[in-house]
Amino acid sequence: MKILVANLGSTSFKYSLYNGDESSLSLVARGGYERVTDYGATIRDALSSMQAEGHIDSVDSIDAVGFKTVLGFEKTGCVAADESVVADLRASAELAPAHNPAYANGIEQFAKEMPKAQLVALYETAFYQWASAASRRYAVPKAWYEAGVRRNGFHGASHKFVAERSAELLGREDVADRVRNLYVGGHESFEGQPLRVVSCHLGGSSSVTGIKNGVAIDTSMGLSPQSGLPQNNRVGDLDSMAVTYVMKKLGLSIEEVERQLTKESGLLGLSGKSNDVRDIWEAVEAGDKDAELALDSLVYGIRQYVGSYMFQLGGLDALVFTAGIGENDTGVRERVCQGLEDLGLKLDLEKNANTRGEETCISAEDSRIKVYVIPANEELVIARETSRFLSHNK
Ligand code: ADP
Repeated sequence: MKILVANLGSTSFKYSLYNGDESSLSLVARGGYERVTDYGATIRDALSSMQAEGHIDSVDSIDAVGFKTVLGFEKTGCVAADESVVADLRASAELAPAHNPAYANGIEQFAKEMPKAQLVALYETAFYQWASAASRRYAVPKAWYEAGVRRNGFHGASHKFVAERSAELLGREDVADRVRNLYVGGHESFEGQPLRVVSCHLGGSSSVTGIKNGVAIDTSMGLSPQSGLPQNNRVGDLDSMAVTYVMKKLGLSIEEVERQLTKESGLLGLSGKSNDVRDIWEAVEAGDKDAELALDSLVYGIRQYVGSYMFQLGGLDALVFTAGIGENDTGVRERVCQGLEDLGLKLDLEKNANTRGEETCISAEDSRIKVYVIPANEELVIARETSRFLSHNK
């Protein structure tokens, strides 16, 4: 089976071609284009190079194209990327302006260029569809909810991968199997021994998700990726009153408030230096107090969500770190796990300090709660979900 994963920006297009079955997919080609003006021509060019390099015999030898769509009002899950998906992406574009129009246009172009391939949309919100109404509803008037104001949650592909992989590492094949079938077999009831995991996806954009028996119960991001932890340059959690207050107090327009909350806040806003934790650590080492505060706020936010989900889950079996910061930042991991021995969590400091980017168990031998670093390969995750969709919808 050949699966193409298409990563679409407003003027960029990256692709990865995978070959094999769901459990044995291997990357055979990858490429990308910047400053794209004509998507159709770019897709044709990518297909020609894959053919010239001998990866495909013809356009028709690609069975499916997988797209990581962000969100829609009507749609979620892992579904056929048809006209209704395109329409829904357009209707909800205001909540994901950088992504939805690019995917709506891109999917239309792929449908034209590759009429025989199955197009599959994997929504970033898909993993949260079974979370309780209490976790998904904001306490706003019903008309707001009906207009689409709800907790959607994001980074679903990454947190779902963590749910599956952590279950495998803990020897819980029953739960891993449930996760594998989640988008294709439905959400059946689970009778096994409970498995409680908290997944920390910490990168340029960060979120924490509580997972029970392989299914998300709650997540730190909300209606948009603006909420939850302080992000690289986006605000994270904020009292809604702050918006109207600064508009009046500082005379800011709604566009200006939006710009500052999405471009000048988060770690950048707090540190006043950088949106990258590597620069922030450097400044901390040089004694910079604002940088220290930025780091403290990030760690505080992570612990706040981990603690909350641990309580909601009634305990914890594994804590997982993934994405750029989660996989590489030994200092952030150490701070997050500090002083939790009484709760049954003890880090192996040496293992933690030596783990960057590899899948490793970094908790101490006698730690009841296991702590893992699980690197996520986003393209492979999309290819796997696409392949599961194909097997199920033959
Ligand atoms: P994105 O959300 O942009 O896809 P990534 O998951 O690639 O983010 O993470 C990017 C962030 O990860 C960077 O902003 C940086 O702060 C952090 N990061 C990447 N590599 C390292 C590293 N070696 N050490 C510490 N932090 C890192």
